[in-house]
Amino acid sequence: MTELATQGVIDTRVLDVAGVRADFPILERRVHGKPLVYLDNAATSQTPRQVIETLSDYYSRYNANIHRGLHTLADEATAAFEGTRETVRGFINAAEPREIVFTRGTTEAINLVANSWGRANLEAGDEVLVSLLEHHSNIVPWQLLADQLGIVVKVIPVDERGVLDMEAYRALFTERTRLVAVNHVSNAFGTVNPVREMATIAHAHGARILVDGAQAAPHQRVDVREIDADFYAFSGHKVYGPTGVGVLYGKAALLEAMPPWQGGGEMIKTVSFEAPTTFAGIPHKFEAGTPAIAEVIALGRALEWVGGVGLEAIGAWEARLLAHATAAVSRIDGLRILGTAPDKAGVLSFVVDGAHSQDIGLLIDQLGVAIRTGHHCAQPLLTQFGVDATCRASFAAYNTLEEVDVFVEALERVIGMVR
Ligand SMILES: *Cc1c(COP(=O)(O)O)cnc(C)c1O
Repeated sequence: MTELATQGVIDTRVLDVAGVRADFPILERRVHGKPLVYLDNAATSQTPRQVIETLSDYYSRYNANIHRGLHTLADEATAAFEGTRETVRGFINAAEPREIVFTRGTTEAINLVANSWGRANLEAGDEVLVSLLEHHSNIVPWQLLADQLGIVVKVIPVDERGVLDMEAYRALFTERTRLVAVNHVSNAFGTVNPVREMATIAHAHGARILVDGAQAAPHQRVDVREIDADFYAFSGHKVYGPTGVGVLYGKAALLEAMPPWQGGGEMIKTVSFEAPTTFAGIPHKFEAGTPAIAEVIALGRALEWVGGVGLEAIGAWEARLLAHATAAVSRIDGLRILGTAPDKAGVLSFVVDGAHSQDIGLLIDQLGVAIRTGHHCAQPLLTQFGVDATCRASFAAYNTLEEVDVFVEALERVIGMVR
């Protein structure tokens, strides 16, 4: 092992990586006859057995629709569902559980804000600032509003390291700036953005701030009140929870003033053809129809699991993995890392001279290593860096330094094959 890897053993004790790994049945899998090395965590994280058991337990014991029932199963399901709202509140330190809206994921959470808050508060000529680091899901909803309402989308630029240009950010504000929509951590480069400072600046200009926390929630402690975020979104499947569920946090006063965006059951108080239909209070006003009940309850279990391991320990361990991987791939001839911000989460994006990212991804899979290749839903960013695709390795609590070594060795072999 290298010196870095040896030091890593000390951290292993802090985190107990072996204990963490034992919670993930999928890590025992083989791919093409090789042990799976899963380094695509920024796309989706694997699921601990506690979360899988929670899903199974729900369907085995108390599957029922929530809120409307007066029978035992419905009561149990409702209690577990609403109990998760409190778990999520605690996870991001929101003031009240009614500030937590369950959605299908980060994408739906951002679309909810665009369609509800946006349509109620924006008019032609109003400006929304997004950053060049954004995921398409924090770009396209604002472009749709630009087409429909005539708002203007302005872009916060990044420097050659993939760090937001804060001088340019300040300079973009005008009296028409209404909203800043920015990610907390970039999924393409791993850059951690100074969202606390960005919120202060936005608020000083009378603008609101929406933070896309899809890549932050799994890696660092999030405190929406400390950030002073007006909205904060994240996805269950990237924080060791199930697919199909996510969270929108909104300050209570903002959510209360917002109109519903989808109509249906659950979100109403009274429905009539003679008098105006009236709506439920927050958060139910924004949760039309039967939600992903099992997934919401399992998300709560995932957040408890994360809390049990400890986000500080997870973040420190991933930083160790990232440092080890960065040092090792930097020795590969013709390899260029994209995203070299001083403050980075566990994402390593790179391109290799004379080797297509797609080819690397396909061949390295043959060796059991799962990485992502492509544009990572961040085409404007990659275009600025002169590429249309990168390879991306991204880390989670269960990854080991040995897996990083396997990955780097496999990468060298694959590059030798395609060059
Ligand atoms: C994954 C991701 C999204 C979209 O999340 P979904 O779960 O696909 O809705 C948005 N922003 C960032 C930064 C992401 O990483």
